[in-house]
Order: sequence, then C-alpha cells, then structure tokens
Amino acid sequence: MKFTDLGFGADLLQSLDLMGFETPTPIQQESIPHILEGKDMIACAQTGTGKTAAYLLPVLEKISREGSTHTSALIIAPTRELAQQIDQQVEGFAYFTGATSCPVYGGEKSSWDTQKTALTKGADIIIATPGRLMAHLKFDYVKLDKLEYLILDEADRMLDMGFFDDIMKIISYLPKKRQNLLFSATMPPKIRQLSKKMLTDPVQVSIAISKPAAGILQAAYEVSNDLKVPLLCDLMKNHKKLESILIFSSTKKNVKNIVNGLKAGGYPARAISSELSQEEREDVIRGFKSKRIQILVATDILSRGIDIESISLVINFDVPHDAEDYVHRIGRTARASSTGVALTFVNGADSRKFKSIESLIEMKVNRVAVPSYLKPDKRFVQSSGRGGRGGSSRSGGSGRGGSRKGGSSRGKSGGRSRDNRSGHGSNRKKSSSNQNRKPKSSNSKPGGPQKKDS
Ligand code: AMP
Repeated sequence: MKFTDLGFGADLLQSLDLMGFETPTPIQQESIPHILEGKDMIACAQTGTGKTAAYLLPVLEKISREGSTHTSALIIAPTRELAQQIDQQVEGFAYFTGATSCPVYGGEKSSWDTQKTALTKGADIIIATPGRLMAHLKFDYVKLDKLEYLILDEADRMLDMGFFDDIMKIISYLPKKRQNLLFSATMPPKIRQLSKKMLTDPVQVSIAISKPAAGILQAAYEVSNDLKVPLLCDLMKNHKKLESILIFSSTKKNVKNIVNGLKAGGYPARAISSELSQEEREDVIRGFKSKRIQILVATDILSRGIDIESISLVINFDVPHDAEDYVHRIGRTARASSTGVALTFVNGADSRKFKSIESLIEMKVNRVAVPSYLKPDKRFVQSSGRGGRGGSSRSGGSGRGGSRKGGSSRGKSGGRSRDNRSGHGSNRKKSSSNQNRKPKSSNSKPGGPQKKDS
C-alpha cells in the first residue's frame, strides 16, 4: 500500500512526498481509513511505529477538506517535549494544506499570550499538555465549542502521571458530538475505563509493542553497582566514535552520579531530567540532536515519545522498573531502519526484573563478561533508597543495586505563518524499521502515579 492509495488530497500528498514518506506503516494502514470514515478509535501503539502520523494525516485531510475557521482538533499529550514534537510533525504535514497549529504547554515565560491568541482565534489544531490547558480553561476566552476531533496521545502515560481528572474536566468543555481517538502504548484496565467513558463504538487497532526493533543488538552485563561507572568509562574508551550515546537511569540522583563519574573519567556528558527548566531541556535536546552533546544521561523522561534520530548506543545503567520501559528505552536506537546497540547493566537485585523483560520480549539477551581489569569505584554509587549500596562482586551478585523508578503557530489563529516553516524538511525520513511489526495485542502495568505540571 502507498500513501496515494489512502484517498488523501494533492496538498497532503505533496508534503508527504517532500518528507520522504512513501509507504504507510502498519498502524497507519490500519488506522487511517477508519479515521477518515469518522469512527472513534482506541489504538495500542508505541512511539516509533508512526502513530503520530496515523492520527495527524487523516485529521489534517479532513480539516483541509472542510476548510474550517475554528479550532477543529485538540491533541492532548503528557509532556512538553511530545507536544512540541507533534507540533513539528503538523508543521511538516500541513506545509501545503495551510492548516494552523499551536502547542500549549507550561514553562515558557513568553508563550502564554501566543497560546491565548491561538485558543481565542482558533488555530486549527491545538496540541496541549493537560496542566497548561486546564490553566487556560479557567478563563472564558478559550473557544473549543466547535471542536470536532479529540486525540489523546500516550494516554497510559498521562494516567500514570495522574491526569485522569484533568482529562475528564477538559472533556467537559468540549462539544458532545466529536470524533475521539485514543492512542496508548499499553492497555491497562484504567485505559479501558477511560475508553468506555470517552469513546463511542470504537474501532480497536493494536500493534505489537513487546518486541524491540530487529536492528537493535542487545547485550547485558551482570555487574555490581560499584563497577558500573568504571564499566561505563571502559565502554566509552572502546566505543570507536563517541557520538550520540544515550544513557538511561531511573532516578535523578543516579543521573548526577553517572555524569560526575563520566566527567571524572574524561568523558563530558550532559544530564536531562525533570530538574531542568523547559528552556534547559530544549537546549540539551537540541545539542544532542545536533551532536554538540555526545553523551546524554537521562531519566525516563526521554524514553517515550521523543524522536531523536541516529543514536548509536543506548545504555541502561539500571534495569527499568517496568518491562515495557525497556522496550521504550532501547527503542531510542535503531530508529527508521538503522541499526544500533543497547547494553543493560544488571546487578544482583535487578536480575529478576531483567528476566521479566526477557520474557516480555521473548528472547534471551546475550550476557557479556565484565572485564577483569576493572576496579570498583565507590565514589559514584548511589547511597540511599532501593538503588542503595553496591556490592563488589564482578557478577553483580551481592549489591543491593538498581534504582527506584522513580509555539509556534500560524496565520489566522495567531499561529504559525505559512511562510514560516523553517522546521519543514527536518522530518525527512526513510521508512521506519517498525513497519515490519505485526498487529498484536499487549498488556502491561503502568508505573506509580507522579502527577506534575507539564
Ligand atoms: P512516531 O511513532 O509517530 O513517533 O514516528 C516515528 C518516526 O517515524 C517519526 O520520525 C516519523 O516522522 C517517522 N515516520 C512515521 N511514519 C512514517 C512513514 N510512513 N514513512 C517514513 N517515516 C515515518
């Protein structure tokens, strides 16, 4: 199937052509015809499957057919980063259709007024985080009375973050008659509950999430906590090209330890976690994307949703709490048909968790021996919490290790002008490696609630 078979107008096809999109991914093939027909939908698909285009393209097509002059679509996303990324994709897809959009999220000093204008004059598409949209809804300038499409992206993440009530409140401001699309990486019972509340006779689409992309070479080191930083520095020493290396840790505290350990070993690294301001986070992501920053140490803030191309190496400094977070983390590499390496440090306390990951992904990950010349280094071992003391066994057997899981806008809307499309072209990409995924249902458990204003 080609995009030309889906019934899109010439403007949208021209944008897709310019962006190098030829073949719809499985989630796009399954979703787009139903969305064009006007059906409600619940879709189980993770980042990397092309889920954003799966809902954006048909919604943009319908908006362009209708030629609307009000806000037609509201996309709610859990984080600013994801909202920005969706907005960038709208910018690319709508290049020739002229649809307008505005991201609405907190943290930027100057953006309130732009957001207010877009919400008042009616940008075609609003992409909002729940907290910030709720803040605007307290004022009566928000005009969502003609809304036709409501999309929840990464709904499971939003519920994990404690946004259920905010989402229900936002829905209460919307017209009753509208098309609803719910996208979620996992389908825990509370997503089913939400879908019962907000969807009418939905079509269900499901794409397997439990298999990492085929191009990822995975390996694990069984290593105690006090050997983790020495092992990390050793890997850096042997990594031919020190470029685009992403290291994950579940806690902010460990992120600091890792950055300090790498710096002490002579490897400049930067950290990204919720401790940074919005501007700082954006700067770090920009620096990493442009390869100005070569080694990035992150909490799970980056593991979902964020699309950074050509990461060569992902290292899990600890085993993620949720097995599916492992798939999300290592999915940062080998995107869009490329290959990549994902290494995981497993201490004794984490070995059970890692086994459950192996059963989720239905494969045994190769174990690699820790070099015998490495010396333990206690300076960078986290000293409190479940990620506590590291033992000194080379096999990782004795340490109580691991870690606790812890705008632009256009035209009439006060939004982005048609002539200001600098981001266009940056989305250019060959077919995604995930296109080979077969539809399959999945189940999983979410992490604990941690509501924060995004
Ligand atoms: P997503 O799952 O929406 O985060 O998309 C992952 C990446 O795949 C993004 O960079 C998209 O631009 C890209 N992508 C999505 N659909 C296609 C497609 N049909 N052909 C090529 N690239 C795509």
